[in-house]
Amino acid sequence: MNTRLKIAIQKSGRLTEHSLELLHSCGLKYSRGKDQLMCYGENMPLDLLFVRDDDIPDLVQEDVCDLGLVGLNVIEEKRLAFGARGVAPLFEQVQTLDFGRCRLGIAVPDGFAWQDPGSLAGRRIATTYPNILNRWLAERGVRAEVVVLSGAVEIAPRLGRADVICDLISTGSTLAANHLREVETVMHSQAVLIRTPVPIPPEKQEWTRRLLMRIDGVEQVKGSKYIMLHVPRSALPQVAKLLPGSEAPTVIPLEGRGDRVAVHAVCRENVFWETLEQLKAVGASSVLVLPVEKMLA
Ligand code: ATP
Ligand code: ZN
Repeated sequence: MNTRLKIAIQKSGRLTEHSLELLHSCGLKYSRGKDQLMCYGENMPLDLLFVRDDDIPDLVQEDVCDLGLVGLNVIEEKRLAFGARGVAPLFEQVQTLDFGRCRLGIAVPDGFAWQDPGSLAGRRIATTYPNILNRWLAERGVRAEVVVLSGAVEIAPRLGRADVICDLISTGSTLAANHLREVETVMHSQAVLIRTPVPIPPEKQEWTRRLLMRIDGVEQVKGSKYIMLHVPRSALPQVAKLLPGSEAPTVIPLEGRGDRVAVHAVCRENVFWETLEQLKAVGASSVLVLPVEKMLA
C-alpha cells in the first residue's frame, strides 16, 4: 500500500521551474537526477512525477497522481475532450497559481484582411487546442476548418498548412518573428493546482491538507507586503482606506507621543509609491514596507 502522495509536474518546459520553486517554498526537499521520471521527497511523504504537461490531467483523472500542476489551457482542452467522448472530467481544480500566465489567441499573417471573427469563415486555423477553438468558433457562429497540429503551430501559415493560427501567446515575440499579428484572445490561462476527485486515503490525508495549506500560504504571500507606519489616531479611518487589501490593522500606542500610534498591517497587494505619498499626506511618518516570507491563515 503506497502511503506517499504523488504530484505530477511538467518534466521540462515553461512550468517546470516555477512548479519546483512552489514546492520548494512549501518546504519540500528532494533530489532529482537527470532524466529521472520520478523523484523522492526527502523530508515529506510525497513524490514528484515528471511528465509532459498534456498527460497531467489524465494522470490525476486516473488517480495515478493525487495532485497536478498544469496550465488552465490544458485543463480546459481536456475537459472538453473528455466531454466530447462522454466521459466526465474527474479532476478538481483546487486553486490558481501565480505563474504560467499566457493567453490562447488568434494570430493572422501580416497583410491578412482581419475585421472580426467572421473573417475566419472558410479559413484553415492551425492549433493544438481544437476543442477550445471549436467551442469559441461555434459561440460566434463561424464555420472554419480546424487543422490540429501537435507543435510548431506558428510556422503553419508559412508552410501553407493553414491560413491563420490559434496558439499560446505571452509576450508576442514568437508571433512577430513569424510575421504574425495577434487579433483576438480566445482564453486567458495560468497554472492551476488540480486534485483527484477520489477520496484521498486516510493515511495520505494529513499531508494533503498540510501541503494544500502551504501552497495556499505561498500563493497568498506573493505580492503581499507588511507595512508599518506612525499616524495620528484621528487619521486611522483614512489610513485604513488607503492600505490595499488589508484586514484589521494592529494599532499600537507610542510611548510619550500623545495622539500618534503605530499601525502594522498585512497588505494583500503590492504597496506602490503613490499609496505611500497619500499616507504621508494624511499625516503618516516612519513608513516601512517589508516583504512577507511566510503566511498561515
Ligand atoms: P510538453 O513537452 O510538456 O508537452 P509543451 O511544449 O506543451 O511541453 P510548454 O511550451 O513548456 O509546453 O508550455 C507549458 C505551459 O506553459 C503551457 O501549456 C501554458 O500553460 C504555459 N505557457 C505560458 N506561457 C506560454 C507561452 N508563451 N507559450 C506556450 N505556453 C505558455
Ligand atoms: Zn504539452
